[in-house]
Amino acid sequence: MPISALQLFKHLPQTNCGDCGYPTCLAFATQVVVEGADLTNCPHLSDEAKQLSGTIREQQQQGVGRRRDKLAIALKFLQEKVAPLDFATLATGLGAICREEEQRPYLELTYFGQTVRIFKDEVRYPAGTAENPWDAILLYNYIASQAKRPPCGQWIKFEGLPHSVSKSKTLHRLQRQLAAALSGKKELLAQRALTLGAQPASVSEDADLQFIFRPLPHLPLLLIFHDAEAEENFAAEAHFLFDAQVMDYLDLESLLFLVERLMDYLLEKY
Ligand code: SF4
Repeated sequence: MPISALQLFKHLPQTNCGDCGYPTCLAFATQVVVEGADLTNCPHLSDEAKQLSGTIREQQQQGVGRRRDKLAIALKFLQEKVAPLDFATLATGLGAICREEEQRPYLELTYFGQTVRIFKDEVRYPAGTAENPWDAILLYNYIASQAKRPPCGQWIKFEGLPHSVSKSKTLHRLQRQLAAALSGKKELLAQRALTLGAQPASVSEDADLQFIFRPLPHLPLLLIFHDAEAEENFAAEAHFLFDAQVMDYLDLESLLFLVERLMDYLLEKY
């Protein structure tokens, strides 16, 4: 039996220290099993985990558990979940428009400022867009939520969302990465935020910058940024806040992925 990402994860230290270059041990396990990353990139492997390296290398060489297969399976599962749904009924609740092409219904919505068309079996992006299979998974997850309530306008911290304690460390790491990358560059941050269609906000009294992003129509993210102040020995800080009803639309994992995607755009990694 091949070793799955979850099985490997159980043998990792589960400290999410980030020394391997990935934000969590689970992300690293997935990269090893699905992408062929080197297991020894984790400098904290137990002897037990080291013993798995031979088997892992073998299955990597045989192409077992390749990323493409995994993503295709996840995508197919979501498409099957979405297939029986009535797009016309769901459109308003998702902030989308339901249209048809040759009797195939699709939802048209804005994703990171771009108009995408989501059919039950394919996603169409504007010409020239670099496709990332995770985007399709996120979009089908959003639709599969069948959410009906628009955002309530009340901002809460990630820790305020149900069952978020174990994942908040990941968000904190992402926030630190963003703050470090944009320290001393608030003009650049403002420029990129406006390019993405974000709106300036006035929620925090002492922030240097604050913007509301709408990566998906009913999924606002508030970014609060304090730039570094050398004289006061104050490092830059970035904090994301979420609409109190965000869990109607996405689970915590997908939400973290959405934050990572937003960071990709802000740091121009895409
Ligand atoms: S280096 Fe990576 S895999 Fe190893 S403990 Fe840290 S986060 Fe987990």
